[in-house]
Amino acid sequence: NADAAMYRAKQQGRNNYAFYTHALTEQSKAHLKMQSALHSALPNDELSLVYQPQFDLLSRKIVGIEALVRWHSNELGEVSPADFIPAAERIGLVDEIGFWVLNQACKQGLEWLKQGLEFGRIAVNVAGPQLLSGNFVDTVRKAIDHSGYPASALELELTESFMIQNPEESIEQLCQLRQMGIQISIDDFGTGYSSLSYLKKLPLNTLKIDQSFISGIPADQDSRAIAQAIISMGHSLSLTVIAEGVENHEQAEFLQQSGCLLAQGFLFSKPLSADKMEMLLSAPVFS
Ligand code: C2E
Ligand code: MG
Ligand code: MG
Ligand code: MG
Repeated sequence: NADAAMYRAKQQGRNNYAFYTHALTEQSKAHLKMQSALHSALPNDELSLVYQPQFDLLSRKIVGIEALVRWHSNELGEVSPADFIPAAERIGLVDEIGFWVLNQACKQGLEWLKQGLEFGRIAVNVAGPQLLSGNFVDTVRKAIDHSGYPASALELELTESFMIQNPEESIEQLCQLRQMGIQISIDDFGTGYSSLSYLKKLPLNTLKIDQSFISGIPADQDSRAIAQAIISMGHSLSLTVIAEGVENHEQAEFLQQSGCLLAQGFLFSKPLSADKMEMLLSAPVFS
């Protein structure tokens, strides 16, 4: 792949300049192609949401649902949000896409509520730059008002790395969102080096332990120690702590023993289409 090729070329020095530029060109071409395809994603109705349930390990009930965006591009096929969200940020499309995701999640949530289904909250991922656009709070209010979905059943997930790089903007806007009754969760926690004193200043409800630590459990001593440190840090700040990326029973058991009683991951359920999620909500217990 292009990254590896570039790396090798750099290691080998200037003789490989031609190879290096070639790799770069290939990569930029792929980028440009994705960027131009991304412009048609919304107009062509190529985006959709999938939903991953979050469970209480003791009661085995669904306590929340994370909405995750999917892009099936007519030109490129399935593209991961890990690739196209950063691209959307670069070309200024992330506000529009983020607004679509938020509206869609609220609409779907309201429909489930109307059916009498219980799911706690819907969590929606927010890209950092959305918060910097200047009217994010208004946008969220619009989505709430427009759909009629209750703010108290909405959670917004922001990454730890973004909040650390933009403390003032984060705190001010998150406070306004909290005043509307929205819950705030800090995603990929443990990778961004926040201090306890900084965490205390953020108006948070939930810490999500990054899945890189969960995947190290039970074999890796450091991962176990970090997960436990995050759990006790969260609880000492009266925050809800949830683990993401739980794939096996050892991990679930370790978390439960360490006092982290909420979890999300392939062990319980992959992200599901709205229809499948609806079926699960009608019989919401995992075995
Ligand atoms: P994230 O918010 O940390 O989401 C968790 C990712 O882990 C999701 O990948 C999910 O499908 C995956 N996952 C869940 N359980 C497991 C598991 O047990 N094992 C493993 N290995 N993975 C698991 P996905 O859907 O590909 O999303 C990747 C990232 O893209 C998300 O990370 C989030 O940062 C971003 N993203 C996804 N949807 C949205 C969105 O609507 N808006 C924004 N701004 N970002 C989004
Ligand atoms: Mg997330
Ligand atoms: Mg995460
Ligand atoms: Mg992640």
